[in-house]
Amino acid sequence: MARIVMKFGGTSMAGMERIRNVAARVKHVVDQGNEVAVVVSAMAGETDRLVGFCKEASPLYDPAEYDVVVASGEQVTSGLLAMTLKAMGVNARSWLGWQMPIRTVETHAKARVESIDTGALVAAMQSGQVAVIPGFQGMMDDGRVSTLGRGGSDTSAVAVAAAVKADRCDIYTDVDGVYTTDPRIVARARKLDMVTYEEMLELASVGSKVLQTRSVALAMKEKVRVQVLSSFDDPTQDELPGTLIVGEEEIEDSSMERQLITGIAVDKNEAKVIVTRVPDKPGAVASIFSPLAEASINVDMIIQNDSKDNAETDVTFTVPRADLARSVDILEGRKGEIGFNRLITDAEVSKVSVVGVGMRSHAGVAAMMFKALADRGINIEAISTSEIKVSVLIDEDETELAVRVLHTAYGLDADVAA
Ligand code: ADP
Ligand code: ASP
Ligand code: MG
Repeated sequence: MARIVMKFGGTSMAGMERIRNVAARVKHVVDQGNEVAVVVSAMAGETDRLVGFCKEASPLYDPAEYDVVVASGEQVTSGLLAMTLKAMGVNARSWLGWQMPIRTVETHAKARVESIDTGALVAAMQSGQVAVIPGFQGMMDDGRVSTLGRGGSDTSAVAVAAAVKADRCDIYTDVDGVYTTDPRIVARARKLDMVTYEEMLELASVGSKVLQTRSVALAMKEKVRVQVLSSFDDPTQDELPGTLIVGEEEIEDSSMERQLITGIAVDKNEAKVIVTRVPDKPGAVASIFSPLAEASINVDMIIQNDSKDNAETDVTFTVPRADLARSVDILEGRKGEIGFNRLITDAEVSKVSVVGVGMRSHAGVAAMMFKALADRGINIEAISTSEIKVSVLIDEDETELAVRVLHTAYGLDADVAA
């Protein structure tokens, strides 16, 4: 017997037929004698629909009221799943974020889980009752409803798993594991049996939305055993073939030779800004980035091209696309102070990243990337690196070609096209 947290994403909960399938899977795991908590997302598309209403109500909506609206999607699915389980003869009840409660801090719409009161929850699970928990939602100190940011149900599931000391956190989604790249972009993507926390964290943070970045960081910190599985497989199968997120030592034990690159991710949510003819003197770059930081705008890639001749430099960087207009506004407002000539922006860019711990011990990963892209005439507009990642910014239209070319160049293609 084990204590298991099962999480089902939006596509898995999209409509009553899917919910019945989820309930059948939960029943199967309960019938095996396990204690179970289930974390659910809203039906696919529902959160987008609710966000749309908020924007329509007021472009500058109050984030606290936004949370009231968008948290409702998960309230619906948690109730429906509990009902369905009961109809199948499985003892179950829903536990809303504020009922446990899941205590959150910081800002509405992107709150962080601080703690979860698990007393009543664990007692219910031990008595054989399945706890059905709406993902994404929590409660602020003042009792108001909060949400954890888009894709946040993954984080809810890992947080619950850590709090109830679950043996496993199984994330059921619409693909049967973590692949070398998004299998919806590259048909020859290969499923990984295992991936390290560190690589998964990096992949998620550069755009692999299969898991929310914060869920991976939390799993790594709390040592939660996470598995990614498909909810579209036969619900009565005992062992589903998924991807296990593990510590690096576990992978080293199980395979002699690591691939150089583990995966490739794409992020189409950034935009490029070029600030031209900035004075090349101490403090100039700070005068650009400080006001952006004050406005909580996350700057990602940065390039400074210095031109020694005229003591001026162009500074290129990326910001989230959603913050582009605000960034321009802020910089134009400080044009005199910064002393630049003009701003050039481009929102039609995408960031392609290759990730792998193998990079630590092998030189030439970046060079191979640049050459493979150059051979196909793909221009690189910016570059950034970390110890286990190389990212390039390219024209958005060339994204799929770039990912396919790199997938082949690093030897990641599956033998047979899916
Ligand atoms: P859920 O609604 O279950 O949370 P998401 O849509 O958030 O599901 O995440 C699953 C999707 O992530 C897949 O449908 C796939 O298109 C995408 N994805 C991106 N990168 C990867 C990857 N490396 N491996 C698997 N899926 C990926
Ligand atoms: N329903 C929320 C979203 O779409 C949370 C989630 O599904 O993880 O972002
Ligand atoms: Mg998701």
